[in-house]
Amino acid sequence: MKMSFKVGKIYGVPIRLHFTLVFIVAIIAWSVGSNVLLLAETLGIPAPDIEIGVQSYLLGLVVAIGLFVSVLIHELAHSIVSIKNGVNVNEISLWIFGGVSQMEEIPKDPNLEIKISAVGPLSSLGVALAAFIGGVLAVNDVLVFTLLYLSFINLFLAGFNLIPAFPMDGGRILRALLAKRYSYVKATSRAASIGKFFAVLFAIVGFFVNIFLILIAFFIYMAASQETQSAMVDYVLGNLSVRDVMSPDVETIEANKSVEEFLELVKTHRHTGFPVTRGNDVVGLISLKDAKEVPQSQIYTKDVGDVMKTDFITLDPGEDAATAWKKMLREGIGRFPVMENDRLIGIVTRSDIDRSFDIQKELKEYPLAES
Ligand code: ZN
Repeated sequence: MKMSFKVGKIYGVPIRLHFTLVFIVAIIAWSVGSNVLLLAETLGIPAPDIEIGVQSYLLGLVVAIGLFVSVLIHELAHSIVSIKNGVNVNEISLWIFGGVSQMEEIPKDPNLEIKISAVGPLSSLGVALAAFIGGVLAVNDVLVFTLLYLSFINLFLAGFNLIPAFPMDGGRILRALLAKRYSYVKATSRAASIGKFFAVLFAIVGFFVNIFLILIAFFIYMAASQETQSAMVDYVLGNLSVRDVMSPDVETIEANKSVEEFLELVKTHRHTGFPVTRGNDVVGLISLKDAKEVPQSQIYTKDVGDVMKTDFITLDPGEDAATAWKKMLREGIGRFPVMENDRLIGIVTRSDIDRSFDIQKELKEYPLAES
C-alpha cells in the first residue's frame, strides 16, 4: 500500500501503517473520550469514574490503539495460517478501514481458502472472549471499561467480517463453497455479485446512518470487481507464459541518442516506449511520459540516458502471463522487457497481454456453460 511505513515484522511478515491511521486513531480517541459515559450506558457496561478531559481522551486513545491491535491480531491469524499452508504473505497494512493482508496469491483450494478466511473472525471471537473474561475479573474501573469495550469491538469485527460480502472473510468463505460446485471463475463472479449487492445495501444504509459505511461500501465494490477480473485473467491466461504473450522483435534505443531521436522513433514505430541499451546491456526504459518532462528547447541536447527510468522491472520468459498482468496492474507499469540470460529477448506491453487475453477468451468460450 502506498503512503505507508513499515513498523516491524511479525512471523516474517512486514507490518505497515498507512498514514490515514493517524486520523482514524485521533477521531476514535476523541469520540470515545468525549462519550465515555454514553458508550458505557449504551453497551450496558459499568462506566469508569473519570471526568471528560485529559483522562478520558487518554482512555479513548488506549481504546483506539486497542482496536487496531485487535485488527492486527485478526490479520495475523489470516497470515499465519496462510504461511503454514504455503501461501506467501507480502505484508499486512493497517489503514483507515482496518487491516489488509497482502497475499502473494489467493489459494485456489476451496478448503484452504475456507481455513484462511475463517481463522480471522475466529481469532476475533477468541480475543472478544478473553477481553470479556478479563473485564469481568478486573477490579480497576477504567480497566473494566476498556476490556469490555474491546470485547464488544472484537465481537463486532468477527460479525462484520462474516457478512458474505466478497471480498470480506464471509464472502471468501462463500466463494470457496461455490467453488466446490462451480468453476473458479464462476464461483468468484457469483460471490462478487453478492458482495456488490451488500455494497449497495451498505451504501443505502450508510446514507441514513453513518457516512463511513458508504466509503466501506465503495471499497467492497471496487475490490469485488478487481477480484473477479483477476480470477478471470488467471483462468483465461492460465497456461500461458510470458514467452507466449511477448512481442519478440523488440526495438531499442541507444542511451546516447537524443530525446528528439526518441520522439522520431515513437512516430515511426507507433510505440510509446522503448528499452534503452548501452552496447549489449539494457540499462533503462524510456517512455513518452519521460520525454514530455524535457522542455522543448532541450530535446536536441538531452540524451535518452538522462531522462530514462533506470528502476525498471524485467520479466523472465518462463513466468506466468497472468502474474505479469497482475504486476502491471499493481506497479502501474505499461511495459516490461523480457530478459533471458541477461539478454533482451522481447517486451510485454499491456496491449500484448490484452490481445492474448481476448484470443484465449474466445478459444475458451467464456463465459462458461453451467457445469
Ligand atoms: Zn479477515
